[in-house]
Amino acid sequence: MHSNLLKLGWNDKFHQSLDSSDFPQAIPARIIREDRGQYTIHTGDNTAPAQLSGSFMNAAQSQLDYPTVGDWVLLQPMESNNGFLVTGMLDRNSLFMRQSAGKTSDDQLLAANIDYLFIISGLDLDFNPRRIQRYLSLVYNSGAQPVIILNKSDLVDDQDQILEQLSSQIPDAPIHAISALYQHGIEGLEQYLIPGTTIALSGSSGAGKSSLINALLDEQRLKTQANREDDNRGRHTTTWRELIMLENGTCIIDLPGMRELQLTGDEAGVSKTFADIKSISQQCRFRNCRHEGEPGCAVQEALETGELSLERYSQFTKLSQENAIARKRGKKKVVQKKRVSNKYAEKESFFKDVSIQFRKNNKAKRKYNLDGY
Ligand code: GDP
Ligand code: ZN
Repeated sequence: MHSNLLKLGWNDKFHQSLDSSDFPQAIPARIIREDRGQYTIHTGDNTAPAQLSGSFMNAAQSQLDYPTVGDWVLLQPMESNNGFLVTGMLDRNSLFMRQSAGKTSDDQLLAANIDYLFIISGLDLDFNPRRIQRYLSLVYNSGAQPVIILNKSDLVDDQDQILEQLSSQIPDAPIHAISALYQHGIEGLEQYLIPGTTIALSGSSGAGKSSLINALLDEQRLKTQANREDDNRGRHTTTWRELIMLENGTCIIDLPGMRELQLTGDEAGVSKTFADIKSISQQCRFRNCRHEGEPGCAVQEALETGELSLERYSQFTKLSQENAIARKRGKKKVVQKKRVSNKYAEKESFFKDVSIQFRKNNKAKRKYNLDGY
């Protein structure tokens, strides 16, 4: 059933979600591209433009209810052109998001239904373990599994030393050193290229995401641009988010370079990134210990003995505080329901119910599973 969708990452779970709906005959498709609210979908046979139906937008309560790249949606063909109306969305396995830059505290959805999130850093001036920890906190909240990739290994002599140092700071995530340009170490990534799997690539602009996709595609599908020598940053080659299919049925989502990566207020990700500190603090005498000189504080003791480095502890404090601020801002936010014109209301009567049903399901089940995917 829907076997043409398998190469897009369709699986039993999505199938069941569709089947158990009241409208199992709706056309499922995956969002493969989003550029400022313009969607492109893939039905397994074709790609086509798509726009959100009026009732879909009316039912949306927050940013989380809008589709993003990687989402599975339900479609209704539009008569006027070759496009589609998006009338429903299936439950997500995972969702990668950040808080948008600037003063507003809206979450920005970056990619959905991803299995692995590759965090790519160049082993040049781009290399920054603290930024990797920040990424990691967001990835742990997404439900996807993080894979850290250190690219441009051809530029360094002490690759093993860097790897060793980083893995002491990031004990729980796999780390790979590669050279996308010279195709070194790519074979170490093959374990993630499983048919039906979706991988999102994130990292600063210039880290080598396009080069890695090229290496994986083994063809010049994305144009890479020469590094500007002065500031060590590559030019932006991607401003949209796009899902690309490899021959073997692995989907790759390319996220544009992100300058700013703000935490969303979800504490679990920071806790998991700094699991060692969490576990040390279990030994503090007081359960509400703030580790600021209270008697019997295990964290202070670990800092004194050197078991815990001051640098790691201060990064933990910094990200925890930032997260707490994000959380407070998020709570204050009043969710405004979008008002939209009901231009398509008539055409949609049949699909309206299914759309609302999916919204409800989504809300009820909006707990991203950290184990399954
Ligand atoms: P993106 O912005 O993350 O997509 O980065 P690109 O793939 O466009 O790469 C930015 C620049 O880094 C380009 O000039 C690439 O040729 C260069 N680059 C990418 N991978 C490597 C690598 O493994 N080694 C070296 N030395 N340069 C690389
Ligand atoms: Zn303490």
